[in-house]
Amino acid sequence: MPPELSIVIPVYNEQEVLPLLAARLRPVADGLGTTYEVVAVDDGSDDLSPAVLVRMGREWPQLRVVRLRANAGHQAAISAGLASARGAYVVTLDADLQDPPEVIPEMLAQARAQKADVVYGVRSDRSSDSTFKRLSARAFYRLIRILSGTHAQVDAGDYRLMSRATVNAINSLPEHHRVLRFVVPTLGFPSTSVTYRRDERAAGKSKYPLSKMIRLSLDSVTGFSTAPLRAATWLGLLGGLGALALLAYALIAGALGQTLPGWTSTVVAVAGVGAVQLLCVGILGEYVGRMYAQLQARPTYYIAYDSLTGPATPADEPAPLVAESAPGAGEGVTPADEPAPAASRQA
Ligand code: UDP
Ligand code: MG
Repeated sequence: MPPELSIVIPVYNEQEVLPLLAARLRPVADGLGTTYEVVAVDDGSDDLSPAVLVRMGREWPQLRVVRLRANAGHQAAISAGLASARGAYVVTLDADLQDPPEVIPEMLAQARAQKADVVYGVRSDRSSDSTFKRLSARAFYRLIRILSGTHAQVDAGDYRLMSRATVNAINSLPEHHRVLRFVVPTLGFPSTSVTYRRDERAAGKSKYPLSKMIRLSLDSVTGFSTAPLRAATWLGLLGGLGALALLAYALIAGALGQTLPGWTSTVVAVAGVGAVQLLCVGILGEYVGRMYAQLQARPTYYIAYDSLTGPATPADEPAPLVAESAPGAGEGVTPADEPAPAASRQA
């Protein structure tokens, strides 16, 4: 029997936060009065997160651990979780407790009462985020809205509840670098929202460096809009007009006998046109690159291990962890914490 609710949690190097997460999430989930599973997607962590998860799973039968073979990124990890989840409703939640699990019962109640397919968690207050994060996030959501015309709620991140129909729809999308917070609104399924206060990360550091934020923005923009391509056309047009004007000026100046040294105008024209061309080629390249990736149809993640079904190959059995393998951080991890053979862990 599949559970009624699946809680999907992407986990990347979150060893400090996982015990805190369990302590807060478990009472909430147990108190739901319905069947549930927690799908922790270990996104190729290289700290003790896998061992901590396996250990937590021994005392928490509803906890299911899905391990990805390599770090695939936040969005891909959520996608993997959505593909694995079995629930009639699925909640996606970050591991770092920025999004309070206590809101889940309200989301579920809303979904049931309003027959909504999607319940967005909307941040009412981001004062706990850094100023840079807040400002960049606001600019990011604005830009996407303008460019794509999607009605993504400003300040709705990846904390949301989705019905089975929604999850099936997402799973069937062929898109590769999908940014779920914009994909879900474009489906246009009946939705509602609950607001919550975004807290500070309970422990550990952000796993979203600037490079990952830029990548997410690029994926969002190119995934939802061809407006940048049009911008390239306009820029090219403007550059072309500028070049024409320069040409006219040079011809007239030549005809009037004002033979200028001409070095400045040449350099300016060449540099200006060159810059516009490079920009346009770069924008085209972003799209061509994505089309190429789509054609290759390379999966964005590979599952190595699922505690429900066992390892993908015998070699994927989670490695026994000994304290020496991670000096300092291995407190409490002894050979006795070695996971039981997967076969005996099947539900
Ligand atoms: N995460 C992941 N893979 C990554 C980066 C992050 O699964 O490559 C997870 C991370 O463990 C956390 C969530 O995505 O549960 C959000 O990351 P984080 O809290 O670091 O982002 P921020 O809140 O700072 O934007
Ligand atoms: Mg966070």
